[in-house]
Amino acid sequence: MDDESINKFNLIQDNLKKAISSPNKIPNIICVSKTFPIEKLLPLIKSGHCHFGENKVQEAIHKWKDFKINKPNIKLHMIGSLQRNKVKKAIELFDYIHSLDNQKLADTLKKNEINLKKKLKYFIQVNLGNEAQKSGILYDETKDFVKYCIDEARLDVIGLMIIPPNDTDNIKYFEKIDQLNRDLGFKDLSMGMSGDYMEATKYNSTYLRIGSAILGERKSSY
Ligand SMILES: *Cc1c(COP(=O)(O)O)cnc(C)c1O
Repeated sequence: MDDESINKFNLIQDNLKKAISSPNKIPNIICVSKTFPIEKLLPLIKSGHCHFGENKVQEAIHKWKDFKINKPNIKLHMIGSLQRNKVKKAIELFDYIHSLDNQKLADTLKKNEINLKKKLKYFIQVNLGNEAQKSGILYDETKDFVKYCIDEARLDVIGLMIIPPNDTDNIKYFEKIDQLNRDLGFKDLSMGMSGDYMEATKYNSTYLRIGSAILGERKSSY
């Protein structure tokens, strides 16, 4: 099938394969489909790609709710910050949430998982740059929060997630979060975007969140 998004996707996979010796270490690619309509994603879906990322619950419902019925292979990832009043809908639709970062949210997720009899997989978002306006738990509070989410909220936490500050040196953040992730005994790590997925892969990312490098530039300022 000749489609630009598939060509770009294949190119990314080739880059990863060249850089990584063992095939079972190739990270999953989440195609970040925010702002793009489902029609744009059909070639990738038909070619067998299954991980997609969205950052707004309402948009994701509109795009995926009906489409996802009877397509158990498709895995949806919530990568944007999640308000507590949207948790019920998020649990109904998504398979993974990458933005777990506070206790109240963990409690609300727990309650809704029980009510809906559904378990998701979670990444805990860490605010490594200690940026005031950014989401994510602070680095120093991460260990306690991970423990809370697993032991008290009983959530299936599989790893950490970061969006590095857009300053300069992502490597420094990748290195630090990789170390913490391994200290915590996690095998999965959500990091790396269009501009830095190769570096993220070197630091053991297992879920790359890639949008524009596959689908092209987004129109709105998401
Ligand atoms: C939009 C977004 C991405 C993808 O960004 P690109 O630069 O287009 O690859 C990844 N992660 C999060 C959390 C995002 O919001």
